[in-house]
Amino acid sequence: MAQSFDVVVIGGGPGGYVAAIRAAQLGLKTACVDEWRGADGKPALGGACTNVGCIPSKALLQSSENFEQAGHHFAEHGVRVKGLELDLAQMLRRKDKVVKANNDGIVYLFKKNKIAFFHGRGSFAKAGADGCEIAVKGAQNETLAAKNVIVATGSNPRALPGTEFDEKLILSNTGALEIPEVPKRLGIIGAGVIGLEMGSVWRRLGSEVTILERQGAERRLRQTHCFNRPAAEYGRHQCRSRGTEAR
Ligand SMILES: Cc1cc2nc3c(=O)[nH]c(=O)nc-3n(C[C@H](O)[C@H](O)[C@H](O)COP(=O)(O)OP(=O)(O)OC[C@H]3O[C@@H](n4cnc5c(N)ncnc54)[C@H](O)[C@@H]3O)c2cc1C
Repeated sequence: MAQSFDVVVIGGGPGGYVAAIRAAQLGLKTACVDEWRGADGKPALGGACTNVGCIPSKALLQSSENFEQAGHHFAEHGVRVKGLELDLAQMLRRKDKVVKANNDGIVYLFKKNKIAFFHGRGSFAKAGADGCEIAVKGAQNETLAAKNVIVATGSNPRALPGTEFDEKLILSNTGALEIPEVPKRLGIIGAGVIGLEMGSVWRRLGSEVTILERQGAERRLRQTHCFNRPAAEYGRHQCRSRGTEAR
């Protein structure tokens, strides 16, 4: 027989897990279904943000900033560093550890709020006046009866026609967060926040970065940097003065 819930949330990213926690806090019997798997093949709650987005990108931004500070700015403060070396494998390991801590943090919050977690792909099996049946396809197939369903399935990176992501030469955000060696040159298509973040990380670690933007770099940077012109000029200046070319 199907397990019954007041709310079933499909998707365990920031949209889904926060909704699940809030529903449970409001006294509703809640389940969350998510299909993400980490590099170890195990469930990894947190969606794109935790696994291949906000969290790992900020971990690498911090690490690369430290590297750049030590290499270029500490001396100005009277701090001399001799024999500075980049250990990229360790930097990537630390990033993975930060991600895992966040995955585990969400598992803890689910347990604390008594949210049932089902790992697998959720889909609508039936809908009626009293609610829906959600089929979960995973290691174990389950059917959940839900009075209410929240769909928080997020988004996927969009490849350009003819250039599918192989995560080696053509990278999405997933590949850009785990390049095993600092590339000599890196082209980034799109001067949105993600492009600029990834560009900053690899430029700080030694890549020559070129960002291509169809709207015109000036306009896009203006949108990215809080919609105002001085900020756009600042963004462009920052890119140039830090060795990133924006076109
Ligand atoms: C490099 C990078 C940096 C970013 N930095 C920031 C930042 O600093 N600040 C910020 O606010 N945003 C940032 N973002 C954007 C942020 O990651 C997204 O806005 C956020 O992840 C969207 O959350 P979501 O819950 O809607 O979807 P997602 O995080 O995509 O989660 C959706 C989840 O649903 C699961 N799913 C999908 N379909 C099904 C199904 N049928 N059954 C079961 N599970 C399913 C997916 O596996 C996934 O786990 C960044 C993104 C990237 C790529």
